[in-house]
Amino acid sequence: MNTPKTYEAIFLKKEKASEDVWTFYFDRTQIVEKFLPGQHLKVKLPFIDDVAENNRLFSISSSPLETDILAISVKEGISTFKKELFKMENDTTVKLEFPLGSFTFDLSKPTTSLLLSGGVGITPFFSMLKTVENERLEYDIILLASFSTPEKMLFYDELKAIEKKNEKIKVIYTLSQRFAKNWSEETGRIDEKMILKYVPDLKANYYYISGGIEFISGIADMLLSKGVTKDQGKIEQFIGL
Ligand SMILES: Cc1cc2nc3c(=O)[nH]c(=O)nc-3n(C[C@H](O)[C@H](O)[C@H](O)COP(=O)(O)OP(=O)(O)OC[C@H]3O[C@@H](n4cnc5c(N)ncnc54)[C@H](O)[C@@H]3O)c2cc1C
Repeated sequence: MNTPKTYEAIFLKKEKASEDVWTFYFDRTQIVEKFLPGQHLKVKLPFIDDVAENNRLFSISSSPLETDILAISVKEGISTFKKELFKMENDTTVKLEFPLGSFTFDLSKPTTSLLLSGGVGITPFFSMLKTVENERLEYDIILLASFSTPEKMLFYDELKAIEKKNEKIKVIYTLSQRFAKNWSEETGRIDEKMILKYVPDLKANYYYISGGIEFISGIADMLLSKGVTKDQGKIEQFIGL
C-alpha cells in the first residue's frame, strides 16, 4: 500500500448524481500518486481556518484507470465544510491527502465477493467495479445496493451497463422505503433471506460492507450470528453519516 501524501488539486466541476449526492471532479493530471479501487482520501479546504471543519474523508468514486480525474461523490449537508465545498467555484485549489485505507479487493479469496452498500456507501464499489470491468478481471462479484427511494439511487445505469458486459458481475438494487409499481428488483432492507436468493450459503462468501454505522452493524451482526467469521470480510464505515 502506498504511503499517503498531500497534493494540491484543482476542482474541475461538480455534477448531480442523485437527489442529495453530487460528484466532485478534481484534476489528476499533475498527481503521480497511485491508489487502489476502494480506497479513500481526505479533502482539505485551505480557505477554512477552523481545523474541525476544513477536512473530511471520502471514498474515491473514480477508478484508478481514469487517469485525468479523481472523483468523490458527496452527500449534501449543513456543516461549514459541506457549505463551503458545495459553493466552491470551478478552478479552486484544494488539498487531497491519499491514498488512505485498506478497503480494497482481497484477491487471495477464491470465493464470491459480496459487496453490500447502504446509500452513499456504494461509492467505493463504483470505483472497484469500474476497475474490474476495464481490466477485464474475472471475479464472481455480487453487488447488493440499498437505497431508501428511487430518487436517492446512485450509479444505477452505469453499474447495470457493467453487469451487462460481464457475466461474472451481478448488480442488484433494493429500495427500502418507496418504489414505483413497475420496480422489478428487490424491496426492503438487505437481510439473510435476500442474500440467500443470490448465494447458496452465507458462509461461503467474502463480504465487503460499506455505509453508515447502522447499516454496517445490522448486516455484520446478522452475518456473525449465522457463523460468518470476522476474517471473511472488510468494512468501510462512513463515520459522520
Ligand atoms: C472512510 C470514509 C469514507 C467516506 N466516504 C464518504 C463518501 O463517499 N461520501 C460521503 O458523502 N461521505 C463519506 N464519508 C462521510 C464524510 O466523511 C462525512 O463525515 C459526512 O459526509 C458528514 O459530514 P458533514 O460535514 O455533513 O457532517 P459532520 O459535521 O461531520 O457531522 C455529522 C455527524 O457525525 C458526527 N461525527 C463527525 N465525526 C465523527 C467521528 N469521527 N466519530 C463519531 N461521530 C462523528 C457529528 O458529531 C455529527 O453528529 C466517509 C467517511 C469515512 C470515514
